[in-house]
Amino acid sequence: MTHLRKANRDLIKEINRNIVLNLIKSRGPISRTDIARLSGLSLATVSGIAADFIESGLVREMGEGESTGGRKPVFLRLNHQAGFVVGVKLMEQAITSALTDLDAKVLYHRVTSLQDQHDVQAVQGIIIAAVEATIAESRVDRARVLGIGIGMAGVVDGQVGFCRYSPFFGWRDVEVARPIADHFGLPVYLENDVNTLTIAEQWFGYGNGVDHFVVVTVGRGIGAGIVVNGQFYRGALGGAGEFGHITLQENGPPCDCGKRGCLEALASDPAVVRQARAAIALGERTTLAEAEPLTLEAIVAAAEAEDKLARRLLADSGRWLGMGIATLVNILNPQLIIVGGEGVQAGEWRFGPMREAVQAHAFNGLADDLEIVIEPSGDETWARGAACVVLGELFKSPVHKGEEVDLMAVMA
Ligand SMILES: [Zn+2]
Repeated sequence: MTHLRKANRDLIKEINRNIVLNLIKSRGPISRTDIARLSGLSLATVSGIAADFIESGLVREMGEGESTGGRKPVFLRLNHQAGFVVGVKLMEQAITSALTDLDAKVLYHRVTSLQDQHDVQAVQGIIIAAVEATIAESRVDRARVLGIGIGMAGVVDGQVGFCRYSPFFGWRDVEVARPIADHFGLPVYLENDVNTLTIAEQWFGYGNGVDHFVVVTVGRGIGAGIVVNGQFYRGALGGAGEFGHITLQENGPPCDCGKRGCLEALASDPAVVRQARAAIALGERTTLAEAEPLTLEAIVAAAEAEDKLARRLLADSGRWLGMGIATLVNILNPQLIIVGGEGVQAGEWRFGPMREAVQAHAFNGLADDLEIVIEPSGDETWARGAACVVLGELFKSPVHKGEEVDLMAVMA
């Protein structure tokens, strides 16, 4: 009984701390009086919590507010440099790692080659070395690093830090996070890479304040991150948004996932390159026959130079993408679609036809007020997204945290 009462008291204390911290984060600089007024907590409770935060360095006092008679209130603000997190984007050939402050501002980033290693232990070793180098080279106090976020393509179970399926690495039910967490003695969060980008968009990008939006990524693969009712949507197994693997053409070209005719096999960057190779082999007249290496960049350049094949292939890829997005629109009815990923370099050659296909295939009226924004995003943005996963845990209410590691306890 006493134990339970203590547990409840601790939880309430933790919730109060979270409320105060989030008010300082979202409304700061803010006075203790205003925090008390907005939260309904007593001034004494707010002052006690604020004193803890100030002692830990997470919150700072600054300036003086307008006097309302008597003592002038001192404002509190979040100390963005009180802690740091490392975001890692794990790709087929390389790792991008970025160190950010508590505002998700990237202070330092680096790229580390995977040297064709796909074995999980070898990859974990390279991630550990990359994170070590990121912390050392950014010259922040290692004790101030609060956690590590890792984003990767595939089906990821973030609760237990397992990769359930990665077509790129050929992994099935592989434990990724724990050995890295053990090495650093820090919480490590594993998340699908498109999801990390979606979380970053929701916090700091076009998705901020939008209740229903989808992030679609085009590049090496095609994926989607979904926000419904202001909540990030993971699905039962964390596999929501495997948008690239909806079948659009029965018995179509083979896909990395082992099936045929997936959107990704028809419209991703490698799919466009494959189609160009096939057309050249069939003797189609194109300047691409001389392109070495034949890449999406080369195809975009040829489209700019009025190459008919290049323009047709980019337009086809856009139309497939638009058909897929129309299906998303019919199911989710979002207000906003954000298109990102390395494939955005194809510009309007791809996205003009994509917009037309969305209009042509979406259910009557659903695409009328739909906003579609194309956002160029570098690997650094993806790594920043992975850092946002850690920050999200830091500022998340303890009610939603479950049994996960308590970052606030680490801070204190
Ligand atoms: Zn597939």
